[in-house]
Amino acid sequence: MSSITKTNKNNTPIPLVKKPSLTPTPVPAVGPGGRPDAESTRTACIRTFGCQMNVHDSDRMRRMILDAGYTEVTRYEDADLVVLNTCYVRENAVDRVRGHLGELSRLKREGRVKKVALTGCIGAAEESRQLEKHYSIDLILGTHNTYELAEFIGLPGMEETHTPELPGTEGEHTAFVTIMTGCNYKCSYCVVPSVRGRMVCRPMENVVHEVRRLVGSGTRYVTLLGQTVDAWRDPEGSGNKFFDLLGRVAEEAPRVWFTTSHPSNMEDRTLRLIGERETIVGKLHLPVQSGSDRMLKAMHRGYKSDRYRRKIEVFREAVPEGTLSTDIIVGHPGETEEDHEETLRLVEDCSFDSAYVFKFSPRSGTEAAGLAKSPGAVPEGVAQRRFLEVLRAVEQNAFKRNQRKIGSTEEIYIRHAKNGNGRAVGETWSGHAVHVPTTAKPGGYVTSKIESAGPHVLYAGEPVGPPR
Ligand code: SAM
Ligand code: SF4
Repeated sequence: MSSITKTNKNNTPIPLVKKPSLTPTPVPAVGPGGRPDAESTRTACIRTFGCQMNVHDSDRMRRMILDAGYTEVTRYEDADLVVLNTCYVRENAVDRVRGHLGELSRLKREGRVKKVALTGCIGAAEESRQLEKHYSIDLILGTHNTYELAEFIGLPGMEETHTPELPGTEGEHTAFVTIMTGCNYKCSYCVVPSVRGRMVCRPMENVVHEVRRLVGSGTRYVTLLGQTVDAWRDPEGSGNKFFDLLGRVAEEAPRVWFTTSHPSNMEDRTLRLIGERETIVGKLHLPVQSGSDRMLKAMHRGYKSDRYRRKIEVFREAVPEGTLSTDIIVGHPGETEEDHEETLRLVEDCSFDSAYVFKFSPRSGTEAAGLAKSPGAVPEGVAQRRFLEVLRAVEQNAFKRNQRKIGSTEEIYIRHAKNGNGRAVGETWSGHAVHVPTTAKPGGYVTSKIESAGPHVLYAGEPVGPPR
């Protein structure tokens, strides 16, 4: 693979030079209209579909690509290399990617795009072979071998062990740190265990060391990542669990969050720790999937709805101002009107601040996919109605809860700098998203009073005092 040559926009062959190190390099300048400057030769465009794990994987690939001397561009037609880093969780994710692959095949025929790589969860699935036949794809990588991209783009090959020492996004104000990969559950509907494999946890010292290094290089906000982070156990046999790891990281980093958690692994002491530690953001994402015990059993979630409610009571008591979000699937095969009513009741009881609501999508190889054509399958029209009912119930609750924040003064962490509307996007310590009129840079804090609220976001007034 090291002998690959590429051609630039003038069709001149460019040997891909091997570089000795993988030190991150800044994104090179782009010219007017987002086009690379004339002297830039190799260009790459990375598109990410899916969850934060995919965003994180894209970050790692971006570092390799920049290190190999590519300039990052945003449009396919400006790119020599296009990387589609994909999600496989729902069927429409694959359909979306097909649309992009069709467009890329056309751009390749026109000689505008030279190489296409399909990576991530779809790359790890059987379906990628069919896509390879239909579309012009040069490289397919799954989630466990993204490191092979290095060789493809001309960097020295990298070995990646099964417990990858994944670098976060160093030098930026926020970083994701993967603490575990894979998942040991077998939820009826989910492809994650088959595409990401069984759970592998990183050693505690390894994680703490990375967090320290990131904070030393300017990171102000660390998010611990994994499919079931609260199932984390120290693989070195120290007996440490997620509670201990979170406590350690909260001592090292100025601002910490974690996602995603599984209700069966969530310990009460971890929920209390969120309220006790000043550096941990008071928001909890705890996917429930359904309010019906019958459906939770069919989904193999391993808990009943009342156990979930009890966890939420502990969280609300420990972090009274905190925010709570969840994932809910409607229309799983076998879901009756009574089951749906149970979900609506749970939404009412837990009063979520937000929720990701999904219509069941049959994923091949999963248990539930085999039931998608059974008599218990939920017709599309019914699933759509249930979807809207759950969404509305969540939004009504969220709107009421957000209204209560009006008048409070909040310290706001700036996530994205001021946009065309003159407002930056930030986050309170309780995890609320806030729009605030400030020129403060991402990674800084301002203090402002909340003036109004919608179901998804709070609106703050002019900050009092300078940013810190
Ligand atoms: N590990 C997390 C957990 O245990 O809940 C969730 C990971 S999954 C990648 C993210 C969310 O996608 C799930 O919580 C679920 O609500 C949704 N999801 C997964 N498979 C789905 C499917 N086949 N149809 C619809 N939604 C699905
Ligand atoms: Fe999928 Fe269930 Fe594992 Fe979450 S816990 S990743 S939903 S199998």
